[in-house]
Amino acid sequence: MERRALIKQLMLTGMAAAIPFRKVWADMIPALRAFKRPFHRFTVGELELTVITDGFIRLSPVQPNFPNGSEAAEKALLHEHFRPTSEMDLSMNILLIKKGNEVILIDTGTGGAFGKDSGWMLPSMADAGFTPEGVTAVIISHAHPDHVGGLVTKTGQPVFPNAKVYLSKPENAFWMAPQQDFSKSKFQDKQLLAVFTTGTQQTLKALGDRVQLFDDGAELFGCIRMEIAPGHTPGHALTHIYSGNEKIVHVADLVHSDVLSIPHPEWGFNGDVDIAQAAATRKKLLVRFAKEQTKVFAYHFPWPGIGYVKPEGSKWEWVPEAYAVPVAAALPGRR
Ligand SMILES: [Zn+2]
Repeated sequence: MERRALIKQLMLTGMAAAIPFRKVWADMIPALRAFKRPFHRFTVGELELTVITDGFIRLSPVQPNFPNGSEAAEKALLHEHFRPTSEMDLSMNILLIKKGNEVILIDTGTGGAFGKDSGWMLPSMADAGFTPEGVTAVIISHAHPDHVGGLVTKTGQPVFPNAKVYLSKPENAFWMAPQQDFSKSKFQDKQLLAVFTTGTQQTLKALGDRVQLFDDGAELFGCIRMEIAPGHTPGHALTHIYSGNEKIVHVADLVHSDVLSIPHPEWGFNGDVDIAQAAATRKKLLVRFAKEQTKVFAYHFPWPGIGYVKPEGSKWEWVPEAYAVPVAAALPGRR
């Protein structure tokens, strides 16, 4: 992501836009409708889960986004994995959980504030058979703009009119405080941080009493347990999803690159509010996921972001889940 370009984008298409959000989408939908956006559907016990795409954010160059690593070591690792070394595209995989008539959405993408490569959530949802009105709850892992961007229209109206929005107490307290402490972050672009902070505050204020605050360990909807995993932001939360004997954990921004963050949690991420705490949390959880062979869903990993963490010497490796057939073909009669 080029910061100046992003600020310009935010000013042009996001914060200063006078055009109603729904009108923007209405104008764009005929072009987007030219093809259906693929989705990935699977089950966890009795739950039906669907991954849709919000698009991607391009990090170019890759450094300084993993600031505690060296550029040479990062390029070597990317090259070894047949990836571009000059840029990295962060996917934005959005997860929907269907439990009976309830539809629970986890995170909402950029809302278009980062330019045309993202903000695809609503047409992606439509292609997967969901409507904004049908969403009954939205869980927010943390309040960065690529996760809360799709919550309200540019005129401040809720995109999901029938949904409560769940956010952790420490996350809400951090962003709604008069001052935010970014002194432990490597990201020091004060102008952009101010834009992000103001945007998040406006979003949360617009949602008003729709926002429901949760504590660490909160149980929701009989199929979800929240775990606060601080560092990326103070209230950054993992979503454990379970039904019967099956489970998966949505790790949000615990990790940003399958190739870099899994073997090297200590390399950190530029956007970590407390880079040392984030690295410690990341390492602790990778150890646990590897030990427990946990199925993991990662918001920013290559599509559809599902896999496992495997021990590899003194480090770890990401093993993507493999599929015999695409999408919902393995779920006859489900949709
Ligand atoms: Zn993110």
